[in-house]
Amino acid sequence: MRRVYLDHSATTPVDPEVAAIMMTYYTEKYGNPSSVHGFGRETKQALEQARNQVAELIGAASREITFTSGGTEADNLAILGTAEALRKKGKHIITSCIEHHAVLETCEYLEKNGFDLTVIPVDEEGIISVDEVRKAIRPDTILITVMHANNEVGSIQPIAEIGKLAKEHGIVFHVDAVQSLGKIPINVEEMNVDLLTVSGHKIYGPKGVGALYVRKGVRIVPLIHGGGQERKRRSGTENMPGIIGFGKACELAGQRMADDAEKQIKLRDKLMNGIVEGIEYVKVNGPVGEKRLPNNVNVSIRYVEGESLLLSLDMLGIAASSGSACTSGSLDPSHVLLGMGLIHEIAHGSLRFSLGRQNTEEEIDYVLEQLPKIVERLRMMSPLYDQVIHSKQA
Ligand code: PLP
Repeated sequence: MRRVYLDHSATTPVDPEVAAIMMTYYTEKYGNPSSVHGFGRETKQALEQARNQVAELIGAASREITFTSGGTEADNLAILGTAEALRKKGKHIITSCIEHHAVLETCEYLEKNGFDLTVIPVDEEGIISVDEVRKAIRPDTILITVMHANNEVGSIQPIAEIGKLAKEHGIVFHVDAVQSLGKIPINVEEMNVDLLTVSGHKIYGPKGVGALYVRKGVRIVPLIHGGGQERKRRSGTENMPGIIGFGKACELAGQRMADDAEKQIKLRDKLMNGIVEGIEYVKVNGPVGEKRLPNNVNVSIRYVEGESLLLSLDMLGIAASSGSACTSGSLDPSHVLLGMGLIHEIAHGSLRFSLGRQNTEEEIDYVLEQLPKIVERLRMMSPLYDQVIHSKQA
């Protein structure tokens, strides 16, 4: 069966160059980087090179990079670590309603434990207003945490402006950049970011590895205590193959970002326009043009269920995702789409396609050929759609 993978925001395949270099660190260069002998020194040097590769992609110094087990841990470390470090200074945290669960759940955990939380709304395109953030700031605000680009609708946030605001008020600014890394430029200096989360498996690197950028001088309390690795910020013997792979993936992402974006924007727009033109009652979710990630398509198709669409696509070998899929297999409509003002019924019929390096125009043609047929078949079974057709004819 033909297989078309359009779920790169969930995860990406490991680049063969990345996989090849990782293999060496399983079988040949297996020293513990904390060991003093030659095996250890060899790995230590590679660890620092990987740190440098990650730092370069975000405009940071390599000593500001702490490796973690992924984006989720980096988000937890940033938020819990700041709250713990600054709890005597204040207990107010600001976030947005479209954050990933790794941020939202962590903030809500703090709220249950004595912190105050303000959750900023977004507009209908899924973009946070800088003014809303400004209005939410209080004398006891210690942390603002917002994402760079949204994982469901691809909306890119005004990070540099929020960063400026945070700096003016002396508030620590954390940004979850898991979805934007390698897709659009990131510069922690220009964006005035203090803490930034990145992850390996969204950029053709391995799963289970990520990093937190911590600006020099910003204090966070570690979550994991032990041997004091990662400048005492994250103890535990380093996941060397993962870290080496992540570093290489960052290097490749830096080289390929412009080409990848150019190619994916063309495919993205072809897919989005093709769906809108080929199917009735479709709504594009998220912004169009420059405020949208190059690889994201998100549409609500009325009078069908997102899950039924997904299953039908899957039977044809096409992998996409629905608003609710990403986490625990929950069927609740996406908090992101609801936050953007969509009603439950429309949010339920939404689909996300996320493009990657290997997708071709021919694959997009295949989706555009199959999707209208699937929608037509599912609508035939929908009593709601039946009513719409009959009211049109009346
Ligand atoms: N933050 C965002 C915006 C994400 O999209 C994801 C993963 O989907 C994460 C955090 C979690 O990253 P990880 O899978 O590396 O734990």
